[in-house]
This record gives sequence, C-alpha cells and structure tokens, in this order.
Amino acid sequence: MTIDQIIQQIRINCPEIPNEFIVGTQQATARFGNNTFGSPTHIDLAVTITKAQQVGEILKIANQAGFAVCPLSTGNNWGYGSVNPTDHRKLLILNMKELNKIAEIDKASGLISLEPGVTQQQLAQYLAENNWPFMAPVTGAGPSCSIVSNALERGYGPNPQTDHFSAITSLRYFIAHPEHCHQEHYSAITSLDGDCDKACDCVEPCHCQAGLSVVDASHKWGLGPYIDGLFSQSNLGIVTRATLRLAPIPEKFCSFFIKCKRDEDFGLATAFIKKLFIAKGGELGIVNLMDKRRIISMVAENPNGKDQHIVMSDEQIATITKKYDVAEWMIMGSIYSTKESLKGTKQFIKKHAKFADDLLFSDSIKLPIARVLTKFIMKERRSQLDALPLSINIMLGKPNRVALRLAYWRNPRVEGVITDNLRPDIDQCGLLWYAPLVPMNTQKMTEFAQFVRATTPQFGIEPFITFTNLSYDYVDSTIPIVFDLNNPHAVEQAHRCLDTLFDEGIKKGFVPYRLNTSQQKTKLDPKAPHWQITNLIKQALDPNNVINPERYNPRKV
Ligand SMILES: Cc1cc2nc3c(=O)[nH]c(=O)nc-3n(C[C@H](O)[C@H](O)[C@H](O)COP(=O)(O)OP(=O)(O)OC[C@H]3O[C@@H](n4cnc5c(N)ncnc54)[C@H](O)[C@@H]3O)c2cc1C
Repeated sequence: MTIDQIIQQIRINCPEIPNEFIVGTQQATARFGNNTFGSPTHIDLAVTITKAQQVGEILKIANQAGFAVCPLSTGNNWGYGSVNPTDHRKLLILNMKELNKIAEIDKASGLISLEPGVTQQQLAQYLAENNWPFMAPVTGAGPSCSIVSNALERGYGPNPQTDHFSAITSLRYFIAHPEHCHQEHYSAITSLDGDCDKACDCVEPCHCQAGLSVVDASHKWGLGPYIDGLFSQSNLGIVTRATLRLAPIPEKFCSFFIKCKRDEDFGLATAFIKKLFIAKGGELGIVNLMDKRRIISMVAENPNGKDQHIVMSDEQIATITKKYDVAEWMIMGSIYSTKESLKGTKQFIKKHAKFADDLLFSDSIKLPIARVLTKFIMKERRSQLDALPLSINIMLGKPNRVALRLAYWRNPRVEGVITDNLRPDIDQCGLLWYAPLVPMNTQKMTEFAQFVRATTPQFGIEPFITFTNLSYDYVDSTIPIVFDLNNPHAVEQAHRCLDTLFDEGIKKGFVPYRLNTSQQKTKLDPKAPHWQITNLIKQALDPNNVINPERYNPRKV
C-alpha cells in the first residue's frame, strides 16, 4: 500500500480522527523524527489517535498493509531516543498524546488510572485540584513528559515511589496478533471481578467492557502468569492505560545537602548513604551523590563557551569552585516522614555525617539566612540557592524544567534559560545517556568514578558523574554525554565515547539498565538466552513484527 492508501484506510476505519491528526512523511518526520544524538529519523506517516480503541484499528491495518507501528506517549525520550528506525518497511507513528484521561480508582489509597498521554503536569494539577493527599511520580525530564511511558521505560524519579514501573499495579494493552488486535486486553482479576464496573469511567458506548477493578489496582501481580511486565522496555504490545500506586504527601518533608570538600571523603560518603538506607530507607526517596563537575554544570555557565568541544581545565574548575563554593562531592536527598520520626532521622544524619564539611536541611533556619547573605554579599553563590526551591518541588511531585538546563551545556544556539519552551530534541541539543548499574560498595563506586574520569575526556566529553542511590544495594549512575549536535566532529566523538564506556564498562561489571535506540540494535546479542526467549514471545504475540520491530529485540539477520 502507498502512504496515501494507508491514510485512506485509516480515515475509513477511524472516522473520529480529525483529518489534521493524520500527517504524511514531511510533517511526521519534522514533528517526531528529531532526537538528541544524530540526524532525524525518517518517518512515513503519523496518526494522533483520540480513543484507545483506535489502536486496534491501526494494528489491523498494519497487519494487512505490512507497515511498522511505533507508539509514542509523549515522544520525549531525550538522550535515549523515542523512535527506533525500522527495517525496510514503512514506519507509522502512533501518537497517543491526546489519550489523557485520568480516572480515580481509590482516592483514599492513592490508586489512579492514567492513559498514556497524561503528562507529569496534568497529573500534578489533577491531584492538586482534587485535593489528593498524594504526589505525582515526576522526573527531571519535566512537565511535558508522560507518566505512563516513563514507567514503561523503567524510569525513576526522586520521590518515594522511585522506581516508576514498580508503582504500576495494572495495565490495559493491545497486542498486534492479527486475531487478537481488535480488543484491549487486561488482567485475569479484572475479568473475574464482578464489582469492577463501578469504577468504569468510559463514555458510552463503553469500550473497556470490564471497567476498572479496585482489587486489580491494589494487587500488582494479578492472578496466574504475570503478563504486565512484558510491556516494559519491550515491543510486545501497546499500553493504553496504567493504574499507579502514588506515594502519599508526607506529614513532614525535609531535604538534606551534604558537602564533602575532599575527594578522599568519597568512601565515607558512600558508606554513609548505605548506612542511611539500611537504617531509614522507609523514609527516603532517591539519594543522589554528585561530583564537582556535575554540580558546576548546575550552578555556572560553561567557561569554554558552548561551541567548544573541550573539557574544563583544572584551573577553570578551581576558579569556579572558589567562586561558587562547590564541593568535591555533594549528597542530596529527601526525608518523607512524620513529625516524630523526622527528628530522629535528622539526628541520625547529623551523627553519621560528621565527615561532611557542610550539612544543610531545607527546613533549617540557616537556609533563609543564607539567601539573604548571598543577595547582598556573595551574589555568585545565589544561583545554587535559587535552584534549590525548584529541585525541592520536584521531590514533592511538582514538575519543572530545572534539570533540563543540563542538555544545553554545549548548545550555542539556545540559551537554556528555564522557560516553558525547553525541548532538547527540537532545540538540537546533543545528549546521550550512559546509565549503568553499579554495585553499591565503595570500591566499585570508586573504580567507576575513576573509569568515567579517565574515559570521557579522551573524547572531549565532560565527566559529569551522578550516583543515584535507590536503596542500600541498588545504585544507578547516570552519565550525560553532552555535546554540540551541529558539530559533526563532536557527534562522532560523543558516540565513540558512549561505545567505549559501554564496551569497557561491561568488562568491569557496569551494565546499563536502559539503552538508546541504536544501542538496542548493536549492543545486544540475539543468541543470548534472554533475547531468544524474547524473540519467541514476540513471534507469538506479533507474528508480523508490526510493533516497534527494532526495540529491545535483537534478531539474527
Ligand atoms: C535533562 C534530562 C533529565 C532527565 N531526567 C530523567 C529522570 O529523572 N528519570 C527518567 O527516567 N528519565 C529522565 N530523562 C529521560 C527521558 O527524557 C524521560 O525518561 C522521558 O520521560 C521519556 O520519554 P517519554 O515519556 O515521552 O516516552 P516516549 O518517548 O513516548 O516513549 C519511550 C519509548 O517507549 C515506547 N512507548 C511509549 N509509549 C508506549 C505505550 N503506551 N505502549 C508501549 N510502548 C510505548 C515508545 O515506542 C518509545 O520507544 C531525562 C532527560 C533529560 C534530557
């Protein structure tokens, strides 16, 4: 079928989709083809659907016409890529940003059902307007990003529901199998639950058939084989609804900031974080441990100018460190607690963080004084304190764009001032993530920091290091490879840098928890047992390989 014939078929089968929501190659590529690491992906056509049931119609046509379908919730997977280029077939983007229904399942328990287009901003606003005593699971990617697709990507964020796929208790989805693609699928509990129609929020005619089951929403594992897990980091289905368990707004909230001015104190800092999680993990969200260069990227401008593909010199770092009072390492975390427990946790931190050069709690009297002082005396240090309320808002489930500035460190075309318009892909920011899991012990974390510091400068890339501690045994490091996307030399160096980090890193036991679209094709071995089974499941659910053929599914060529 030609693109025009496909468009005609879609118009016949989905008459509710407005004409302007179905676009051809040029518009589709311009709107959805951008990414932060290379030339735009060619897209043949894009359809913005308005109802979940239209997913089934499009899959039916795709099976008949032989084109591939890439579902997008918001299409903002900056640094990893939202669209996987396909094989020889035509590629249709199934844009679900208009599916943004929010349904209450149990307000008192924080159980809520979302369609994939619901953004962080929409959920945060809904919770505030309807007085839910719960927080949205937001991320640094900001207000315009989908909650559901971030969870499907197994993303994480700072508030206590840190691991976003863990927060999902139930899914609705379509699979592409030609005989089963016409209907939305759901769990065995929902099928059995005679009480679930009460919560159904469908407008007539009801398409979901079974409504939303409260018991299903409260029991992640369902009944029988756990199938929902197949739809995270995969190409096995298209999720049209997810139920989430939200984290409650705590009675007391307090962030803490611990500065270590000596690199040698790194071991003490990591041991402290482990101890803190073992003793007080139930009251914590994510605890970040950031190195000096990463902190500099948050408080200062790039001293080399944004168009230079070179790292900061030791002299430049020393000057900025002095000017902004930057630490070698900074620990940043939050306590979500009750009045009684908060006191004890703060005491625990004070007692065990004696190695620190500075310890600040966000509810401390020192903070307002520091703001006044910096206003009049040390203006340079004000940027650190000004960013603080924005960072704290993220920890409380109120999204903003403060973290996005990072993507603009080497973008000479856009200032990167925090406004509603920041869009790293459209703004042509160069960004790739290296996101390996690191064993949580001082020796391996030290080895990792040394490895990154020795590797990225070889390629002109700044070694910005963050260790994201999610528990006492679970650390993920996110290394942003930031470069100028319009400089071909910088693009080539950035990709070589990531390749080297990946290849040398796995030899040392640093294995990424998430890969970008091109690594999904090149770095995974189709002969490995895991991918052979994935392939068998793919053949069973999607024999024509319609959905996202190249996503997390290496195949033998
Ligand atoms: C400065 C900065 C900070 C960031 N901070 C964070 C962070 O703190 N945490 C974090 O996790 N990420 C972070 N990111 C990375 C990324 O931008 C986010 O994870 C973002 O939310 C992912 O994009 P999306 O939700 O729009 O997903 P999309 O681009 O819509 O989708 C991602 C992938 O999932 C598939 N998919 C989407 N929807 C569905 C569906 N309904 N069914 C089946 N498959 C689907 C798509 O085909 C695509 O391959 C950050 C990025 C930047 C630039």
